[in-house]
Amino acid sequence: MDQPLKSPPLSALDDLFHAMVARSRSAPPPELAVRRARLTRLRDLIAVNEARFVETISADFGHRAAAETTIAETLFLLTEIKHTIKRLAGWMAPRRIATALQFWPANNRLIPQPLGVVGIMAPWNYPLQLTLAPAIGAVAAGNLVMIKPSELTPRFATLLKELIAAAFEPTELVVTGIEDGVAQAFAQLPFDHLVFTGSTRVGRIVAEAAGKNLTPVTLELGGKSPAIIDVSADLDEAAQRIAYAKLLNAGQTCIAPDYAFVPEAERDAFAACVHNHMLGMFGSNPANTDYTSIISERHYARLEDLAQDAASKGASLLQRATPDNPAWRRLRKFPPTVVVGATPQMAIMQEEIFGPLLPVMGYRDRSEVITYINAHDRPLALYWFGTDAAARNEVLARTISGGVTINDCLLHFAQINQPMGGVGTSGTGAYHGQWGFDTFSKLKPVFYRSPLNRMADLYPPYGAKIKWIEKLLRWMS
Ligand code: NAD
Repeated sequence: MDQPLKSPPLSALDDLFHAMVARSRSAPPPELAVRRARLTRLRDLIAVNEARFVETISADFGHRAAAETTIAETLFLLTEIKHTIKRLAGWMAPRRIATALQFWPANNRLIPQPLGVVGIMAPWNYPLQLTLAPAIGAVAAGNLVMIKPSELTPRFATLLKELIAAAFEPTELVVTGIEDGVAQAFAQLPFDHLVFTGSTRVGRIVAEAAGKNLTPVTLELGGKSPAIIDVSADLDEAAQRIAYAKLLNAGQTCIAPDYAFVPEAERDAFAACVHNHMLGMFGSNPANTDYTSIISERHYARLEDLAQDAASKGASLLQRATPDNPAWRRLRKFPPTVVVGATPQMAIMQEEIFGPLLPVMGYRDRSEVITYINAHDRPLALYWFGTDAAARNEVLARTISGGVTINDCLLHFAQINQPMGGVGTSGTGAYHGQWGFDTFSKLKPVFYRSPLNRMADLYPPYGAKIKWIEKLLRWMS
């Protein structure tokens, strides 16, 4: 699809949204069986069309390794749906909450309730996972859902739109807004909750638009996630794991290790080791089908500029081929690159890389690393490698990030019982598993008063009665 999709009248988007709001306000919350049936339809849609998703996403990227689409997208979602269907009854049930002594006998319950209409705005890098993973939580919580995929994956967006339209009523779950110029109008709709996954820059714009409606937002943003190699680390093992996490999806992963901090004396050896692992895993041949392309010419050129800027400021590049090599460029495969001796003055250390380049910086002592991380935006992920528990705990206690994996990369994201989300400029809020269900629910506190308790009868005239109630409350406080 070379031409941008034609813009529909924005009033159509508005009409659809208002029809969904009306539906959400005019019927009782969907029962367990309805929610399970919706999730089952989503599961079948993914399972039956897995090969089409693999093919279509690959066509949008130029090339996307099939295993990366199945592992990080389709299988990830199927696992999430299975987990959700199995536990949904428990999540939907009113939750018992303790009642303070002065209100006994009485009951407190926290009742999960659908918020209404949830909007989902997704990026291009894992287009299926990042549209449907929030949708699973939102549907499970009983909401109606409107999804807006990225314009950079138009073939995928068209396929998802068609498949969802065939399986769901348009006011139940719908894909829209992929047409050119609709993104801003979508962000301005007064959703009951809006999930935005994308860059920190656009996240600011979306949060501002949502703020005008007082729409609560979950912002899943980006940033520079450090990998710290402690002196106690197994250098080769750390290098292999970082090389893989950096090259998965050709580095176009929000939680990819962005750069590495290595003890000064081992910096060059580590850099060479990472590069060897990169070549070993993804080869030095651009035709390798395990290695994914860069999403567009513009993104490729940006990565090329980052490498050139670093080289011009004194870094040495470990690269099997230069990115202007026609064999690589034609396929938009960016040669795996290690940037040795990166400094904070280089552009590559100032913006999220989002590509297969790993800057390696040397450090002398741990506090230098902690000071550096704390002087910059809060990262979405942090990776620490080593065996020294005291050193590990110091880094854990003194830095804050969206999540952490110790002695590997990415794997905290795959923990279905843990929340996924950033902090500060890397994001707000979280989802996955029950965290998603709770994010997309109003957890409504309800107090059931007992006729046997007279403590709350505080009506005037206060007289002597209030004195002993006051005395009791004072004693309890
Ligand atoms: P992006 O911010 O350019 O786009 C994200 C979405 O915003 C797209 O749907 C796009 O159409 C829409 N958009 C663009 N401009 C807009 C505007 N002015 N108003 C309203 N909407 C607008 O991000 P991207 O390039 O698609 O994705 C890459 C970024 O996403 C990286 O920074 C990456 O770290 C981040 N990301 C974060 C996570 C996470 O879970 N935290 C996951 C994947 C990607």
